[in-house]
Amino acid sequence: MREKGRRHPGTGGVAEGKAGKRLRVTVSGVVQGVGFRPFVFRCAARRSLGGWVRNTLSGAEMEIEGDEAAIEDFLAELRASLPPLARIEEMRAVEVPPLGETEFAIRGSGGGSTHLLSIPPDSAVCPDCLREMNDPADRRHRYPFLNCTQCGPRFSILTALPYDRRNTTMAAFSMCPDCAREYEDPADRRFHAEPVACPRCGPALRWMGPGGARAEGEEALARAASLLAAGGIVAVKGLGGFQLACDACDDEAVARLRERKRRPHKPFAVMSAGVREIARYALVSPEEAELLASPAAPIVLLEKRAPFPLSRLVAPALPRCGAMVAYTPLHRLLFDSGHSFTALVMTSGNARDEPICRTDAEALERLGGIADGFLLHDREIHNRLDDSVVFVAADGSPVPVRRARGYVPAPVAVDFSGCVFAAGAHLKNTVCLAAGGSAFLSQYHGDLEEEGNWRFFRESCSRLLELVRERPRLVACDLHPDYLSTRYAEELAERCGCPLVRVQHHEAHVASVLAEHRFRGKALGAAFDGTGLGSDGAIWGGEFFVTEDGASFRRFAHLALFPLPGGDKAARSPALCALGLLYPFGLEGEVYRRLPAARREELLAAEGMMRSRLNSPPTSSVGRLFDAVAFLAGFSEDITFEAQAAMWLESLCGDDFRPYTFQLTDERPAWIELNHAVREMLDDADDPPRLASRFHATLAAVAAAVAERARAAEGVEHVALSGGVFQNRVLLDLTARMLEEKGFHVMRNRLVPCNDGGVSLGQAWIAAGRGG
Ligand SMILES: [Zn+2]
Ligand SMILES: [Zn+2]
Ligand SMILES: [Zn+2]
Repeated sequence: MREKGRRHPGTGGVAEGKAGKRLRVTVSGVVQGVGFRPFVFRCAARRSLGGWVRNTLSGAEMEIEGDEAAIEDFLAELRASLPPLARIEEMRAVEVPPLGETEFAIRGSGGGSTHLLSIPPDSAVCPDCLREMNDPADRRHRYPFLNCTQCGPRFSILTALPYDRRNTTMAAFSMCPDCAREYEDPADRRFHAEPVACPRCGPALRWMGPGGARAEGEEALARAASLLAAGGIVAVKGLGGFQLACDACDDEAVARLRERKRRPHKPFAVMSAGVREIARYALVSPEEAELLASPAAPIVLLEKRAPFPLSRLVAPALPRCGAMVAYTPLHRLLFDSGHSFTALVMTSGNARDEPICRTDAEALERLGGIADGFLLHDREIHNRLDDSVVFVAADGSPVPVRRARGYVPAPVAVDFSGCVFAAGAHLKNTVCLAAGGSAFLSQYHGDLEEEGNWRFFRESCSRLLELVRERPRLVACDLHPDYLSTRYAEELAERCGCPLVRVQHHEAHVASVLAEHRFRGKALGAAFDGTGLGSDGAIWGGEFFVTEDGASFRRFAHLALFPLPGGDKAARSPALCALGLLYPFGLEGEVYRRLPAARREELLAAEGMMRSRLNSPPTSSVGRLFDAVAFLAGFSEDITFEAQAAMWLESLCGDDFRPYTFQLTDERPAWIELNHAVREMLDDADDPPRLASRFHATLAAVAAAVAERARAAEGVEHVALSGGVFQNRVLLDLTARMLEEKGFHVMRNRLVPCNDGGVSLGQAWIAAGRGG
């Protein structure tokens, strides 16, 4: 519905003598910096309506006058044909006395909102800008920083509120007369596009190559592309941080990147010019294509084509790979550089486990040992954002895995209005600040034990608190007393003089789903997860809770406990997990049988620990159970990245989905006895695909059996699924289907990750429910 042509606002008007109607309409949501006012202007002008529109603190307001039917029509278009980046949370209209106005005007000179609610996330380059970039006659031909109200950097360059140019890192560039004219003209598609820029006045590229070689502009781009084509590794300053790139078809280049990054197996994401190019090496469903091409342009996990035309080292031993489209003009130009790359590896520009590099200085220092050359520019990144990761479930809906660029800081609407801060989990940390019915989740901070991530965590907490400008009335954190996030929360609560609510990790997982669905009724929550501290001091991770109100939870059932020899160390060793699983049944010999003699000592020591109950905490973790079963199916190495063994096991699944035998005990809470299942799995161990699929089916059947008991005992009809293990697509689809077949209403995460990245939302939700 977008119209390009200029329409004069005063061409119509209310017919003489005919009584017009006048409405005042207030709108809240993402309506600033997204072309909303020009859109309203055009909708009004097209119908010859009078009035005005302007930005307000929480969104926009307008008065509209004229023929009643035309106003109805205008409001309908407003709702139905919003600009792609705009989102209306709420729209209210009241009638006011007509003034006889027949012209429509945009009011206010762009004084932006002071509310974070109105800040759009960064957005992928739009088709109009791409057309200009490819047009030799356009003044922005091949300009890597062009943008408009429909696309470009937003949150990544925001330094303060209100969102206007002086509060972004574009403040360093003063607009040339041409850009200024576009910026001031309501009919122009760059009207108040805050980062507007052109080659004359905007940021420029810079190249630092091997041996101190320097270049600028087109030449910088050409050198970067040539180095990539020659098998080199290039650090690219992207939208939310640096990325490390190499040719994804070049085995040697990918191997070198793995070696230098000390990342032997974890899959690399790849980038291609567009969806069509991605479809050459991956299967892309219509839903996946839509997600790839959306303004958020996330990494989408896709099934590889066979044979896979990219290097096998991109995502070794896995059936899926993560791909995204070139989402900035700069990335697009790398593909339009005459080298015709099918795909480039485009992985976070960090050394292992550190935050993504943001400044040139950081990149040159920390990526110096990895990259052969640096493609830099002088538009500063203020807020670090990794690329987001999503996959599409069997029902066609997206499942977020990592929520960052393109999604942050878009809020999740919640049902409470008080200001609540939640410090999140320890790994894959995000924090959540809820205020005025909107929950803002930060980008992903990684493992807080790492010094750089801990600094990043504090940096983004203080930025979020500054941006929201409200003092928390409640602070939430994990039960674990030693987590750095817990300490931060304790200090913050003290500083704000407000209560601190400590929330059990898996209850928070379940609550993240309830928060998304704003569900405060009776529900069963299933958390299939790695590990988290339980309220009884044990290590939990296979938990079922019943809640009446979404605030307090009763542990209803859990997986049988088994010892984890070596504690945290077992998380890296599927063999140790298997030893822990089999030892209580006297079956530990099965582990010895599957390992080379050289590892016998290690196993004997672990067995000794379990016998003397030293450093072998009992756990109900489904994550560790997955590791143990992966070992039985043949995964005998230590893992080098989280969930490696589980992903491998998922990829093995055959077509036999008969569950193994398990028993639900009569205790309260009940537990799931796996004695028979373990023996049946050992019998199937010589058929790994069968073992894998039957094991997945067993977990789904366990969830269904617990749900049926909860229905019989408590009248439960709603089941919420969360926890990191549900990133397993086979398990998620099986479990949801089995529950739905039994008539349950299944809820799961759609907006925030089911892994620890979503925990902060659940903490905030529980705190609000308990603390008012
Ligand atoms: Zn654009
Ligand atoms: Zn300019
Ligand atoms: Zn977790």
